[in-house]
Amino acid sequence: MQYEPVIGLEIHAHLQTRTKIFCGCSTAFGAPPNSQVCPVCLGLPGALPVLNRQAVDCAIKAALTLGCDVQPVSVFARKNYFYPDLPKGYQISQYERPLALGGSLAIAAGGGRRVGLTRIHLEEDAGKSLHEGFADSDRRTYVDYNRSGVPLIEIVTEPDMRSAAEAAEFFARLRDILVWIGVNDGNMEEGSLRCDGNVSVRRAGQQAFGVKAEVKNVNSFRYMQKALDYEIERQIDLLESGGVVVQETRLWDAAAGRTVSMRSKEEAHDYRYFPEPDLPPLAVDAARIERVRATLPELPDARRQRFVAAYGLPEYDAGVLTQSAALADYYERVASEAGNPKAASNWVMGELLRTLNDRGTTIGLVPLAPQALAGLIRLVDAGAISSSIAKDVFAMMYDTGRSADEIVAARGLAQIDDEAALVAIIGDVLAAHGDAVAQVRAGRQATFGFLVGQVMKASGGKANPKLANQLLRREIERSA
Ligand code: ADP
Ligand code: ZN
Ligand code: MG
Repeated sequence: MQYEPVIGLEIHAHLQTRTKIFCGCSTAFGAPPNSQVCPVCLGLPGALPVLNRQAVDCAIKAALTLGCDVQPVSVFARKNYFYPDLPKGYQISQYERPLALGGSLAIAAGGGRRVGLTRIHLEEDAGKSLHEGFADSDRRTYVDYNRSGVPLIEIVTEPDMRSAAEAAEFFARLRDILVWIGVNDGNMEEGSLRCDGNVSVRRAGQQAFGVKAEVKNVNSFRYMQKALDYEIERQIDLLESGGVVVQETRLWDAAAGRTVSMRSKEEAHDYRYFPEPDLPPLAVDAARIERVRATLPELPDARRQRFVAAYGLPEYDAGVLTQSAALADYYERVASEAGNPKAASNWVMGELLRTLNDRGTTIGLVPLAPQALAGLIRLVDAGAISSSIAKDVFAMMYDTGRSADEIVAARGLAQIDDEAALVAIIGDVLAAHGDAVAQVRAGRQATFGFLVGQVMKASGGKANPKLANQLLRREIERSA
């Protein structure tokens, strides 16, 4: 029997605001536990929430980017449940009337199948329970409330994905976009981006959806696909052996490589939602939407197309260079300073990305200024250094922060264009390789290449390769 998986995602994304959603505490990650708290985010009696405008604008930014309809009025509600990391005993979220409805995102960059979005709503994060890492962790759980009240958007998708790979691809794309527009830092290790997957399977050709299970805690790209694939297999096996899927919440156990039941529908929380009495409905007028829209950066697809049209880059280059806004910005600075867009692309995609990768760092932390790389490209274009020497110069620039001009001058790396100097080097090479010269005269082209290599080597890689080639041919003929 053939089965088709059906997947919908619920994504929680921290908004990159300086302060929390209902108080002035810092949202910075990594501070000492419970050092960024106040009566509001600790849920002390009598404390009142005040909505952070910045958080609302961030959420609107995400909604506009994803093509959602921002609602003129949305309403905060109390979602009641008891847990130690939730000091008020309820989470302020949006329920019946979320900030935005609809919208969609293409799974692959540049187009392809689209996944529909159901809604985007604003809410506050809870604190963090620490079950491990203390001497008495077998008896105690510690709680850090620094995260309590950090602003979140929850993005709920339609059940539009049909494989774990597709869901993982969609999630990666959504992450790239949220990072691109500066709404989220994309850091899954720190928990600023989290994803729950809803999974069901149905027989091929069947219209109605199957019963779904929600898989929580799939918090890395590596695990996401594994967890969803495991869950799909589990449900198919269950149905094949005559069982039924029950609606439940399951937890991905990364160590065991499987999902385990957390709670069934019967045990599901009754959240007793009701409108938050301490906050007025959130009104967003058209002027505010337009104000936020004006702050949206050029989006990846548009930027990729512009790179092709304006710089004459191949689609492939444009795709690589627009993987992040920071990389695209860097590239554009190099290209405009160097005056050679394709060479700039080759350097950024080649040596630069390779070096970043080798050093395990990112474009945001690159020590090499785009102007400096442009300076190196200009030296190559002017014929002052050969392209193989340019790669060595690049490495030295990267490590020392010195300019290409300085390094070339200091190390005597300038290309040898001087005919007399080259002819002298060639003379030595010919004298030392009489056999090879005879072979070339007998018509062996491969041996000519060998002699070119010897000339380059004898010049320390500095010979102008084109000129060396010409002169070598001339000298061989002349000495015949
Ligand atoms: P619930 O009432 O359990 O919260 P919703 O209908 O609100 O369920 O949907 C929650 C998430 O589950 C959404 O991302 C939605 O796309 C997804 N979903 C809903 N039904 C299914 C299904 N049968 N199979 C897979 N995903 C589903
Ligand atoms: Zn606070
Ligand atoms: Mg729901």
